[in-house]
Amino acid sequence: MNTRHAFLALCTLPCLAMAANTGSAFYGDGPDEHHPWAVHDRNRPQPVRVEPGTPSTQEQPGKPPSDAIVLFGGAASDLDKWEADKKPAEPTKWEVKDGVLQCVPKSGYIRTKEEFADCQLHVEWSEPSDIEGESQGRGNSGVFLMGYLEVQVLDNYNNPTYADGFAASLYGVNPPMANPLRKPGEWQVYDIVFRKPVYKDGKQLDAGYVTVFSNGVLVQDHTPLEGPGGHHNRSKTGPFPEKGPLKLQDHGNPVKYRNIWYRPLPKRTIEGATEGFLTEEATKAKRAEIAKTVRDDAAKLQGNAKTLRLLESLCYANDEAALKEATASVDAFVKTVQALPADKVESKKNDIMSYHTALQYLTHFKNIPEDFGATKDLAAIVKAHGWDKKK
Ligand code: MG
Repeated sequence: MNTRHAFLALCTLPCLAMAANTGSAFYGDGPDEHHPWAVHDRNRPQPVRVEPGTPSTQEQPGKPPSDAIVLFGGAASDLDKWEADKKPAEPTKWEVKDGVLQCVPKSGYIRTKEEFADCQLHVEWSEPSDIEGESQGRGNSGVFLMGYLEVQVLDNYNNPTYADGFAASLYGVNPPMANPLRKPGEWQVYDIVFRKPVYKDGKQLDAGYVTVFSNGVLVQDHTPLEGPGGHHNRSKTGPFPEKGPLKLQDHGNPVKYRNIWYRPLPKRTIEGATEGFLTEEATKAKRAEIAKTVRDDAAKLQGNAKTLRLLESLCYANDEAALKEATASVDAFVKTVQALPADKVESKKNDIMSYHTALQYLTHFKNIPEDFGATKDLAAIVKAHGWDKKK
């Protein structure tokens, strides 16, 4: 029996119903050494609201989600966000026409002025419909993440080439798992999730990875990085720069682009984020932080609401002052109940059950001592009234 099942067995049906209906703090399995939050924790922040975008059609690009950073949205002025990939920087000779960014062969790569790293990246591209060349010579371009790692752009609709140089390959490293390309002249869509390698003190903690959907088909599935990839030589793993520009390749073919946007991704737990499965050290620190927030909130409350909130804080971390104050308050409450005439106890049932649920939960998860305050007296009151029985 795991801890959750143990607690469910301990908790009566009315207790569960109350928790589910009211959003009780004392419900799912509590925080543990790797999880700062309880299961179904009501204190856990809500996901950030993002207005979704719309899908593209061949006729027109879709709309990016509301939090996307648009790198090319079709306006001629969007070219200001890009420059020729040269030192010193100079304006690019790539052209914007009819809402489309087009490579001018032999003008060189193009890069964003903005630099970023981990991201969700959306890029649409289209090959010349006048087919020329073969293998790597047909419609070659490329999306260079951080200016460093190429997700290949190539007309492979009917054009074999070496597999690790195929469209949507991590060039020189890993072929795509499928070829879902449309005909040249039609718009192709890449949706990419990129995480760069993480190193600490010279040691690799995470290889980094790339996931690619090509025209909605998964073609790179969390593929681990092996360095930046590249031509001819096998690349080696190693740290990436902190940030880098997005680059698009001029490989001598007039490939078109539209609707380029990205969303920066939050840190991974390995980089200090506090969502997900954490180290014991990180969990302890986060639990202490949550406990303080809950105690600060309790300080704004009065009476039973304050005490229950203080008890809630003990799920995350012990605090002598909070424990002492909650103990005194619970004891005082129980004394008040015990002093009531028998026919008046029912009027306090909601508060009694709230405390009882809280104390049973905290005792079960060892957040409070077994002999905490008036826990047993309260349980006796609940039992005497049959409130612990299924109905
Ligand atoms: Mg290329």
